[in-house]
Amino acid sequence: MEDVFRFADELGPAKIIHVHNPSIKLKGVLVVDNVAAGPAIGGLRMAPDVSTAECFRLARAMTLKNAAAGLAHGGGKSVIFADPRMPAAQKEQLVRGFAAALRNETDYICGPDMGTDERCMAWVKDEIGRAVGLPPELGGIPLDEVGATGWGLRHAAEIAVDYCNLRLQGARVAVQGFGAVGRHAARFLATEGAVLVAASDSAGTLHDPDGIAVAELITFKAAGKNVCDHPRGRKLAADAIIDIECDIWIPAARPDVIREDNVQRLNTKLVLQGANIPFTLGAEQTLHEKGIVCLPDFIANAGGVICAAMEYRGHNQTAAFAAIAEKLRANTREVLERAKCERIPPRAAAMALAVERVKRAMNIRRWALY
Ligand code: NAD
Repeated sequence: MEDVFRFADELGPAKIIHVHNPSIKLKGVLVVDNVAAGPAIGGLRMAPDVSTAECFRLARAMTLKNAAAGLAHGGGKSVIFADPRMPAAQKEQLVRGFAAALRNETDYICGPDMGTDERCMAWVKDEIGRAVGLPPELGGIPLDEVGATGWGLRHAAEIAVDYCNLRLQGARVAVQGFGAVGRHAARFLATEGAVLVAASDSAGTLHDPDGIAVAELITFKAAGKNVCDHPRGRKLAADAIIDIECDIWIPAARPDVIREDNVQRLNTKLVLQGANIPFTLGAEQTLHEKGIVCLPDFIANAGGVICAAMEYRGHNQTAAFAAIAEKLRANTREVLERAKCERIPPRAAAMALAVERVKRAMNIRRWALY
């Protein structure tokens, strides 16, 4: 048994539940980190190799993200230990079995994550009546299709440009990872007059300082092609996106892409973290020392979870987008203002903001964690 309590602190975790059903070869874990603000929302991951400690760290990240977003939800995360590429019937059995085992854990609402999708959430909802990230026919808002996180990034950008002497109109944007987050961020920013000068995917980087037609590139990618198959622009290695001269750099691919050993290559004025933990803490510190504004992941990419929380309350996409815009704008301003006044990195300001909100919620609950 792992000693997960070595990570425990004054915020949580509140509860760790291990699930085992040998008849269907189900093994899983749920970590409910903190529910002071309301029932925890966090993804259900299906992966063979996630430790309970890692599940706890992911749950904590959700506590902070939900608190920073001002949602009436705490943070949690769950994992089914299995290969997500298994046959659909077997996957359905495991997801349904796991959901049924958590029927009474009403302070946890799961959403899709790595290895699970809206269909899995439909099975969970069918079993226990609560899940987010549902298919449209069950009232879900298809957040990757509509671009909830990209929409949030666009609003964060509009506020953040004031803190780095930029204007959105004409700002040159480079996007690492032209997927669900990256392509919508590029699309919404382009409607505000920003110019996409580079975009990458796992196969390469497309660079055109005169500007890339975003809608055209989206259609191109949707046809199964890579950005470098596009007829216009310079074709570079995937990693070359880091060196592109631009005003706004958006990581929207993988964790730890910018580290102490490559952060000096960035040639930008503003970083908006679309991906989760795309920079190491050391790399963020370097940016801070160089005066480059870097809006941390759990502020910048909260559009997705805000959309999920709105879906849970029965709202439609219009209402969800209004909430995302309002929250992202307010939180970006609060974080960057605090960072500026206290001369601290935006992540430190964002952490302080999130922890203060969790603690305020804890202070008004009868049981510290509930
Ligand atoms: P996605 O799979 O739709 O897109 C990821 C893109 O990154 C793909 O185009 C892929 O080719 C590209 N990519 C992979 N490796 C790369 C590399 N080395 N260099 C350049 N590009 C690379 O995923 P997504 O949903 O857009 O999520 C992207 C990131 O944002 C993930 O870290 C995810 O956890 C995070 N995130 C997503 C959401 C959301 O709403 N989808 C919300 C918050 C955070």
